[in-house]
Amino acid sequence: MNELPHPGDFASRLLRWHVSHGRHDLPWQREPSPYRVWLSEVMLQQTQVGTVLGYFERFTQTFADVKALAEAPLDEVLHLWSGLGYYSRARNLHKTAQIVASEYGGEFPDQLDALIALPGIGRSTAGAIIALAGNRRAAILDGNVKRVLARHYAIEGWPGTTSVLKQLWATAESVLPSDDYRNFTQAEMDLGATVCTRRNPNCEACPLRSDCAARAQGRIDEFPGRRPRRQVPTRSACFLIVSDRNRSILLQRRPPNGIWGGLWCFPEIANEATLPQTMAELGLRNYVMSGKMAPIPHTFTHFKLLMEPLCIEVGEQVTVVRETDAVCWYNSSEAPQLGLPMPVSRLLNALAAQR
Ligand code: SF4
Repeated sequence: MNELPHPGDFASRLLRWHVSHGRHDLPWQREPSPYRVWLSEVMLQQTQVGTVLGYFERFTQTFADVKALAEAPLDEVLHLWSGLGYYSRARNLHKTAQIVASEYGGEFPDQLDALIALPGIGRSTAGAIIALAGNRRAAILDGNVKRVLARHYAIEGWPGTTSVLKQLWATAESVLPSDDYRNFTQAEMDLGATVCTRRNPNCEACPLRSDCAARAQGRIDEFPGRRPRRQVPTRSACFLIVSDRNRSILLQRRPPNGIWGGLWCFPEIANEATLPQTMAELGLRNYVMSGKMAPIPHTFTHFKLLMEPLCIEVGEQVTVVRETDAVCWYNSSEAPQLGLPMPVSRLLNALAAQR
């Protein structure tokens, strides 16, 4: 790692650049309350700005403040989140809203430690809330900032390791200006998103180019260091596409933990041999297996899932399966508002289009 230049130099160049080249019209920059900043930061974890814009508008129109979000049923939150992926973010969002509403009277705490103690808020999100909403001193270290700092100071190694992360945090703290934290934080994020991009960074337009270590060494592509390669396992699972004479499809709410926790999905069975038992448990005895669909691959962070759909038709027109809120019949002509994983939503749309 290179010696750090005077931090004010780094910060002042970035702040000057931000005035004419930064982003000033993102919806969460208007009225940057802790609620709006928190919501946008959670949505932006693993997701591009372009995708987040529509979700952010819908969320803030439906839930104007943290209390409205806390009072909403989890299903409504998951429904609005459908398609953004990483659904634990939505469940944590709901839990945090309830804690802020009940324990903090609807106002986010203003201390870093208290923010980090809330579900789904890490050190960088907490720092962003403090700096962007409160214009107070706090460092952030999201993916864009990690890339800028790793390149500018030639910080070797994969940021997923504790020692590299520690170095990056120390650097992020050291480059903070003595005021104007809101604009500085936004400038860091904007530089990473628009100039110091993952591929083909536009170094000629970068205010930090004169002393960028990675550029000087001709090693920009080597920073940040890559995650060591590992084999991602594949697992198969059989999903039942059960339809009744109304062309409604049976959905089952998944357990709160595990993949797609709390979302609505086709019933999953271990293998075909367990089909009679599952159908009996669902109260559906009169059925025929009408075929199998081509397997559908879906990639999670730690494994690949091969969904194997098994098509089942139930004889009678079924309106009630059993007395529980864990199953429902889904009909696209009058679709209820449910949280659906993307592959399930896509398959339901494809089935509806066939009719
Ligand atoms: S000079 Fe290039 S590599 Fe270095 S921080 Fe700027 S854009 Fe990134």
